[in-house]
Amino acid sequence: MRKNIFLTLPLIFWFAASNAQQPLDYVNPLVGTDSDHDLSNGNTYPAVALPWGMNFWSPQTAKNGYGWLYAYDSDKIVGLKQTHQASVWIKDYGAFSILPITGTVKLDEQKRASFFSHKQEISRPDYYRVFLADYNVWAEVTPTERAAQFQFTYPQSNESSILIDAFDMGSYVKVIPEENKVIGYSCNNKGGVPENFKNYFVIYFDKKIEEALTWDNSIMYSGRLENKGNHVGAVLKFKTKAGEKVRMRVASSFISPEQAELNLKREVGEDSFDVTRKKASAIWNKELSRIEVEGGTEAEKINFYTALYRILLFPRKFYEINSKNEIVHYSPYNGKVLPGYMFTDNGFWDTFRAVFPFFTVMYRELDGQIMEGLVNAYKESGWLPEWASPGHRDCMIGSNSASIIASSYLKGIKNYDINTLYEAVLKNSENEGPMKSVGRYGVKYYNELGYIPYDVQVDENAARTLEYAYDDFCIMKLAKALNKPQSDIDKFGKRAYNYKNLFDPSVNFMRGKNKDGSFQSPFRADKWGDAFTEGNAWHYTWSVFHDPQGLINLMGGNDKFVNKLDSVFIAPPTFDYSYYGGQIHEITEMLIAGMGQYAHGNQPIQHMIYLYNYAGTPWKAQQHAREVMDILYKPTPDGLCGDEDNGQTSAWYVFSALGFYPVCPSAPDYAMGSPLFTKMTLHFENNAVFTIKANNNNKSNIYIDKATLNGKTYSKNFLLHDDIMKGGTLELEMKATPNKTRGINKEDFPYSLSTEGK
Ligand code: CA
Repeated sequence: MRKNIFLTLPLIFWFAASNAQQPLDYVNPLVGTDSDHDLSNGNTYPAVALPWGMNFWSPQTAKNGYGWLYAYDSDKIVGLKQTHQASVWIKDYGAFSILPITGTVKLDEQKRASFFSHKQEISRPDYYRVFLADYNVWAEVTPTERAAQFQFTYPQSNESSILIDAFDMGSYVKVIPEENKVIGYSCNNKGGVPENFKNYFVIYFDKKIEEALTWDNSIMYSGRLENKGNHVGAVLKFKTKAGEKVRMRVASSFISPEQAELNLKREVGEDSFDVTRKKASAIWNKELSRIEVEGGTEAEKINFYTALYRILLFPRKFYEINSKNEIVHYSPYNGKVLPGYMFTDNGFWDTFRAVFPFFTVMYRELDGQIMEGLVNAYKESGWLPEWASPGHRDCMIGSNSASIIASSYLKGIKNYDINTLYEAVLKNSENEGPMKSVGRYGVKYYNELGYIPYDVQVDENAARTLEYAYDDFCIMKLAKALNKPQSDIDKFGKRAYNYKNLFDPSVNFMRGKNKDGSFQSPFRADKWGDAFTEGNAWHYTWSVFHDPQGLINLMGGNDKFVNKLDSVFIAPPTFDYSYYGGQIHEITEMLIAGMGQYAHGNQPIQHMIYLYNYAGTPWKAQQHAREVMDILYKPTPDGLCGDEDNGQTSAWYVFSALGFYPVCPSAPDYAMGSPLFTKMTLHFENNAVFTIKANNNNKSNIYIDKATLNGKTYSKNFLLHDDIMKGGTLELEMKATPNKTRGINKEDFPYSLSTEGK
């Protein structure tokens, strides 16, 4: 698909280009787009964007407001849309769209939609091109962080036009023909915005507008250049010659129309379409080149760099740079324009696991800026976000901002106001928030009993208890690092063991517990939801990120623990969906994966494979990690195995492909797996380089036989964060059979709270 770009060039150029293949050429944004409400093969859309860009652009195949804004199996495009959507379930805000057309103008999204074909579509992070068949127009777009350039190639027509749709829920447009310009705003959202929320846009054309009109709902107003209403838009008309290119420059701002102009001037300026595209390509290649991979198949390289692209999209930069070159942001919490960073569009329940740990390795400067953004979010709303888009949204559970903050600080990123963040996590530990997902829902029970009972009005209580216990571990570690009072350290240190309260040895699972101390009954390990969140006891029993050894002890030792891990893959994929009243898509994704109760399509179990390392069977982690990389990640539109979720499922792949994974983000180490390539080179911001060599690595030789770190024999099942960041070389000898004598001693096991210092 990405080779299409070369087919239009002479053969000699094809060879030249193919020899100089850049990491960006391996990214396929269409991976994961063949999804719908009942089955997620990724639930992604082909974002044309810069890394963490304030705006993304995407072809739109469905009516605005529908989560699956681009579905691979659609055959019609409604428009090219500026989107801020972080999840199909959370939906979009501040969106507007653009469609170049010829002939009679149709406003209705379904009626104006044009047939298109993937055969005449190029989808890349830095560039998108499609042929709109109904209009005989080629549309191209290339992004900057807060702006974009479009290029439309028209046929000969006296009825060429560009349709701008500012969508419903309140919008405004004004055409200024003498400047070949349209300004406007869109207010659409699904919550999480202050009253005064607006996305201000400015659009310039390099073609003389011959006639302009605006519209309101389905009515066009000829000669009326300004319109404001529930759902307004504009149509700019002109004549075109065959093959004539019309260029359009677009920028937006959450702050003001003037700031939108400034964003355009700063990011696009006088650049041609091709120059903007070259800059976008260069930025992507610079970021993607920070990790070089050698060996592996073409498909694995596409998987790898496509996954890396997904990690580098969220959280979104929600800040702008004003006329005095100051960083400012429109607060999605209180509606004011305030100094400093702001990031948004992230569900920490997903991304605390591997995305943020990835930033602490590869994007430390950005991570510090995100922490500053969290300080601002707390100051502006009184709470840390858990699922922000753009303000607080009531989605998922846990108090996992604590993990994101602690892992950043503990890994040495300290250029922000940690004391305010410490105050914020302490507030969470004692209070329910303005909605269930913010603060800690059920916290009074948790703090009093050490768990949230099953038989009280707090849903998904066992899952909340397990995540709060891990979050308390994070607070304890942070308190220690900040020299906070011993009473804080002791309190959270004790609560970090609260996971033990929910383990029932009679069934060998985590289980809901009633107020009187009896376990919830009847118990079905395969019951989704209820005491758990989007998963069952097979998945949540492993949510003891900080103390796998403690869990091993509860289960009765290494053999029983390993046996339980094995059972996950062997157990029949039975399920009980009665809590949800229907088969939620995550259940379907587990079923079709054909791996028993292993449900990689959702986040709770994604670290589980790496737990084999804590019980002296690292080869089982190696085998399963390779199996999941091989089976559940494909370079195709249906290639993912569940919601991609803001980079998390992709970060699992990138870490796993490198051969290590952050089981416990606030611990000093990463559990090892089996790297995918023969050589991987990590270039850090401080110029240190960490190289992973996996000699003889291939589809059969998936087991680590021997390892050296910087030339010395290395027997551990983990890599220390500090050893990676110093730079150096991990060299592995790979083999087709497991080496059952390596990594079997206690001192080789990764971090557990129970064994710390022992
Ligand atoms: Ca998910």
